[in-house]
Amino acid sequence: MSSNSVSVVNQTREEVKNAVKDIQLYIDGQFVNAKSHDPFVNYDPFKNEEINQVAHGGKEDIDQAVAAARKAFKGEWGRMPLKERLSYIHKIADLVDEHIEEIAPLESFDTGLPISQTRKMVARAANNFRFYAEMVSSRLVGEVYPVDDEFINYTVYNPVGVAGLITPWNAPFMLETWKIAPALATGNTVVLKPAEWSPLTANRLAEIIDKAGLPDGVFNVVHGHGETAGASLVAHPDVELISFTGETKTGSEIMKNGADSLKDFSMELGGKSPIIVFDDADVERALDACTWGIFSFNGERCTANSRLYVHENIAEEFIAALKERVANIVVGDPMNDNTQVGPLIHREHYENVQSYLKLAEQEGCEVVSGHVPEGCSSGNFIAPTVLLHANNQMQVVQEEIFGPVLAAMTFTNEEEVIEKANDVKYGLAGYVWTNDIKRGHRVAQAVESGMLWVNSQNVRDLRTPFGGSKHSGIGREGGHYAFEFYTEPKIIHVAMSDHYIPQFGKK
Ligand code: NAD
Repeated sequence: MSSNSVSVVNQTREEVKNAVKDIQLYIDGQFVNAKSHDPFVNYDPFKNEEINQVAHGGKEDIDQAVAAARKAFKGEWGRMPLKERLSYIHKIADLVDEHIEEIAPLESFDTGLPISQTRKMVARAANNFRFYAEMVSSRLVGEVYPVDDEFINYTVYNPVGVAGLITPWNAPFMLETWKIAPALATGNTVVLKPAEWSPLTANRLAEIIDKAGLPDGVFNVVHGHGETAGASLVAHPDVELISFTGETKTGSEIMKNGADSLKDFSMELGGKSPIIVFDDADVERALDACTWGIFSFNGERCTANSRLYVHENIAEEFIAALKERVANIVVGDPMNDNTQVGPLIHREHYENVQSYLKLAEQEGCEVVSGHVPEGCSSGNFIAPTVLLHANNQMQVVQEEIFGPVLAAMTFTNEEEVIEKANDVKYGLAGYVWTNDIKRGHRVAQAVESGMLWVNSQNVRDLRTPFGGSKHSGIGREGGHYAFEFYTEPKIIHVAMSDHYIPQFGKK
């Protein structure tokens, strides 16, 4: 890193820091202080210094936000013609696009995610709005069944009401929009509870949506902790559905707490996804995919390929190349364009990942780590790490670590590797590398996961279902899957003739 580039980084960091103000809740079209709790402090993961104070919402604030959302749903937003409603969604997309170069540094500053990666995620966020505005305009007219000459049946898809959206801190801006876009485009109103560790871009999004001019109460943001703001949103009787992305154990807790009010749930949960590399694979490309898939987004990625199974015939060569890659990964300030791995979101998470590295040694792994440069000692840095000699019996192979840590294992045949790949409680994603087309399809179908890429890495088509099986989730986001989650289908039967009706009590 040249001294010149350091000063540019510092200046950018300072500029971002100076622009950040304390954060309020956004309720009924106003930025307001929280009534329920005192503000909490938000820290920067690179220096562990205080960034700002964030309003801490609780039951009273959630009640107010839900009431505003309900009023907007019953009022102006609910009655708004579709074309006009979707024009707001396009407007939000345009505003996000205009501000990519400002939102991406904010996200990197707050979360530690490298800026080259947050830029792409912010661009994707704008696409989420555009995609759902376009899909809703072509979907709202449902199936029509002219059954016979007596009846016609048709289905309409109505918005559900107030949508409660609860989101995590990894890729927060993109993941928030992945829920907000379909919820609003289909005509619902929203109360968003963003993760307490990444409030900056959630607040920026509220400012953008405010600028887009949506009617008051259509979109609300209540910052706060899971047990306070999150739990109150889940328990609220006027919230019709909860779309949640986060840890598996939190998802399970939310489902219990929401059961009394019979909510609908969408659950995007944790993962421990396998990457399987056969001996006929394009090794160089598989290496690219394997390193990107686990070390991008600091390994804090639900679809990360955190378990490598490489065929024993190529294992020595593959692992040697992997070690070399790990040694060369650029770790550093997330605000620097060259950085490939930044600091983890917060100190507690860092300590948790550190404890997994210690456990890996105790369980018998050789822990091979890359390099954290000088100047990073106050940040939550974990060097990119490969755990050699791992096996499926180990806790580090069974549990989601959610950091830049790859457990590497070998296999001898297809049947064995499928069994190993499926031998975890999660089923989010999977990756298979082989040049045998028949085997590619066979293994793709046999791996228990909601998503599976063959000779590819996590490419997304927004029309396709996103989500996991087993303990990785319930339901799917994306395309018409999200459309159906945020709408209530209603069948309307219309008589076209005076058909027979039983005449009880008629004389
Ligand atoms: P988390 O479960 O700790 O928190 C997620 C959100 O839930 C936060 O906003 C938090 O405040 C809130 N929350 C916590 N307890 C709550 C409660 N009792 N009631 C209501 N809300 C509550 O998850 P995290 O640490 O922020 O995110 C990391 C996890 O998210 C990982 O497990 C990762 O795999 C998962 N994730 C999954 C996907 C997916 O699409 N499957 C995508 C991204 C992240």
